[in-house]
Amino acid sequence: MYIDSHCHLHLRDLAKRQAEILERMEDNQVSHALCVCISLEDFPQALKLAEKKPNIHTTVGVHPNPQGVEEPTVEKIVALTQHPKVVAIGETGLDYYRVKPKQKWQMDRFRIQIRASRIAGKPLVIHTRNAAEDTIRILQEEGAGIDKGGYAGVMHCFNENLAIARAALDMGFYISFSGILTYPASKELRKVAGYVPLDRLLIETDSPWLTPQAYRGQTNEPTYVLEVAKQLAAVRGMTIDKIGQITAENYFRLFGIQPAIV
Ligand SMILES: [Zn+2]
Ligand SMILES: [Zn+2]
Repeated sequence: MYIDSHCHLHLRDLAKRQAEILERMEDNQVSHALCVCISLEDFPQALKLAEKKPNIHTTVGVHPNPQGVEEPTVEKIVALTQHPKVVAIGETGLDYYRVKPKQKWQMDRFRIQIRASRIAGKPLVIHTRNAAEDTIRILQEEGAGIDKGGYAGVMHCFNENLAIARAALDMGFYISFSGILTYPASKELRKVAGYVPLDRLLIETDSPWLTPQAYRGQTNEPTYVLEVAKQLAAVRGMTIDKIGQITAENYFRLFGIQPAIV
């Protein structure tokens, strides 16, 4: 059993080929996926898919990058998390790669969703790019983390150093690795993947983006999470089956999901 803990099945090319992609997941033992929302505008499509498929869950939140979209409020996010198929808040965080660093609107958007997570009692799906220090600082300032009565979550598509991994783990976060782990240049990242405690590891595709090395040039999809599992198995000296099992258990625990019979 393998689980894609972060994909965007409701967006772009994946939305158009949804039936075929879901079938391929089933054929390859990719039993569940978290279809992550990036704005309040695309949330209804993600929820529709999650309502239709017992093995697909979703999130509600606003990604740090899009501009000209509806800004979240604590009340609205908390209200939308009441749906049983909405298991987390996000993806949210900071991104200084696509947007000029330290924009107040981006930080405010992030803080609001951390507050919503504390009130709703749902974990956060964190996106951070070129902004790791500020991401950790804001999470700490807003009291994210299981030891402070808040709720932790997952650092998705992890591509940071060991010090950042440690800071996130200390707050109770899980660390999710994507196809980046399979790229030849990701030597340092593979070392970090060797350090993360087994009960905090997740795997994901972030499809349609970040296609693993073996399929580069093609659109990414949840089935390719097997490539991430394979790489992680090599790093940890474990079988791919065992990695699948461990990351599945972690997924169910973090998001409070009962495994679906599909
Ligand atoms: Zn992301
Ligand atoms: Zn994403």
